[in-house]
Amino acid sequence: MNRRLTMALPSKGRLREPSWALLEASGVAPQEPGERVLQAHCRNADIDLLFVRADDVPEYVQDGVVDCGITGLDLVYERESDVEVLLRLGFGTCSLQAAVSMEDDATSIDDLAGRRIATSHPRIAAKVLAERGIKAELVRVAGSVEISPRLGLADAIIDLVSTGSTLRTNGLRSIGVLFESEAVLVGRKGSTDHVARQTLTMVLGSVINARANRYLLCNVKKDRLSEALAVLPTTGSPTVMDLATPGVVAVHALVPAADIWSLLPKLEACGASSILTLPVERMVP
Ligand code: AMP
Repeated sequence: MNRRLTMALPSKGRLREPSWALLEASGVAPQEPGERVLQAHCRNADIDLLFVRADDVPEYVQDGVVDCGITGLDLVYERESDVEVLLRLGFGTCSLQAAVSMEDDATSIDDLAGRRIATSHPRIAAKVLAERGIKAELVRVAGSVEISPRLGLADAIIDLVSTGSTLRTNGLRSIGVLFESEAVLVGRKGSTDHVARQTLTMVLGSVINARANRYLLCNVKKDRLSEALAVLPTTGSPTVMDLATPGVVAVHALVPAADIWSLLPKLEACGASSILTLPVERMVP
């Protein structure tokens, strides 16, 4: 099916900036990126954008108001939305954690049995607790979950945590993770023949893949080439090219960004010189 694509993007909150940055890096940023704009068209692609709250995106996609959208995986599960996760986006990472006050003697999620727990994610919480055979009372709160124990509303909480600083500030301590979340591109179920949606998923995916990798170049003496190739954490085949200087080759490889830190000293130990690492814009396997 080759028709125009409609996409919902978070209009505010934590997922807004990284979602817009992803579209920008993918070359399909909104034509009018103003704060108050509710709808826009993409600059280089035939995509209509609708700016709504991240919470509303799963429902908009499920009901067919839009073809796809960016939201948090936790929101998809909490709303029990019947949508398809097309792509994990690698930002907005957080986890749903159980926490108690510093003085509490609970040490694991199992210790929540019989407790009163405040959460704004009652469905995920209930599901995970039931799976673990834990019976507890869940109190649904819309926000500021961390303050509930201090208010006497609950004696534990289940809430989203990314750095843990909000927990610490509120005198709370994590006792376990129930669910891992990140931003995701979701689409309507059964729309697998939508060509523009497939293209968008591929283009966004190429940028997400690229962000996690670096293009590495270095020069190595030919007699130490096998040593240098052995330390490269690359899945594909590196490119090896002769240089004007006899006996020296240039090695080019794609390596995970997270491995650069440990890789550089290993390459130096193999006698590699002129080591460069460059960001990659897109990567289509
Ligand atoms: P918003 O309420 O619009 O700021 O977006 C909340 C969404 O951001 C959540 O549903 C999560 O998917 C994601 N997120 C990432 N880190 C956190 C965090 N520390 N607390 C709450 N939400 C987070």
